[in-house]
Amino acid sequence: MLLDCGEGTQIRIREVGLRGATFDVILISHLHGDHVFGLPGLLSSWTLQGRTKPLTLVGPRGLEAFLCGINAASQGSWSYLVAFRVAEPGVVFENEDVRIAAHPLVHRIEAWGYRVGEVVAPRRVRYEAAVAAGLEHADFRSLQLGRDAVTRGGIPVRNAEVTDPGRPGFQMAYLSDTSYAPALADFAQGVSFLYHESTYLDRHAALAQKTGHSTARQAGQIAQAAGANCLVLGHFSQRYAQLADFATEANEAYSGPVLVGRSGMNPVAERSNQP
Ligand SMILES: [Zn+2]
Ligand SMILES: [Zn+2]
Repeated sequence: MLLDCGEGTQIRIREVGLRGATFDVILISHLHGDHVFGLPGLLSSWTLQGRTKPLTLVGPRGLEAFLCGINAASQGSWSYLVAFRVAEPGVVFENEDVRIAAHPLVHRIEAWGYRVGEVVAPRRVRYEAAVAAGLEHADFRSLQLGRDAVTRGGIPVRNAEVTDPGRPGFQMAYLSDTSYAPALADFAQGVSFLYHESTYLDRHAALAQKTGHSTARQAGQIAQAAGANCLVLGHFSQRYAQLADFATEANEAYSGPVLVGRSGMNPVAERSNQP
């Protein structure tokens, strides 16, 4: 899964070691260039690499016309099927691993926030018990999803005999770009990670309102009202020299940990390194 695709995204994908990864779905928040201008290049690179797996693209109206217009002008095509899905409130994508919902943002053009959740909180496989029961590593994913199993010798194994309840399902929300909108706190209720844009600091709140963006304090207010476990900030205006100020300001409204987003960051790893 990929959330937005600004210029340089394929370079970042390579830098973080995901070059060979097959993304099943790309979610586009809106059609401003900093969120979508990397997409034509990424999709054509996958064609050069011989991708055949179908891809789902979710985004605002106009996304399909944007990409197909480029293909038409350059007489290009993709080596795989692309299914376009126009974002609307509610569930926009679902497979056996994740369920993704969309919610409108408040920006200068049509824009969407996304919430990604694991469909089933994975159960924890008791390795020794599973192996003793005759199961193999290939069976573990199915066990994590709560299913019963059958050994190669045809002996049924009940899920509860070899698994324990797992950690809570991973939930995250991605909200960019948007003005302060209290309804977004309901949409993001209880997530492990909330990414909320904070283009400005509070002293430029009027500018934020005018341009359809948020301040760090407003991002903190949404995170606090949502009860998010961790807030990740990003989309900073280049006018600010000290990005640490964003975390300080967000923490005036939010009591949880705040991470200042940067290129190549792994928020999950960074969060687990914090006290
Ligand atoms: Zn924008
Ligand atoms: Zn933007």
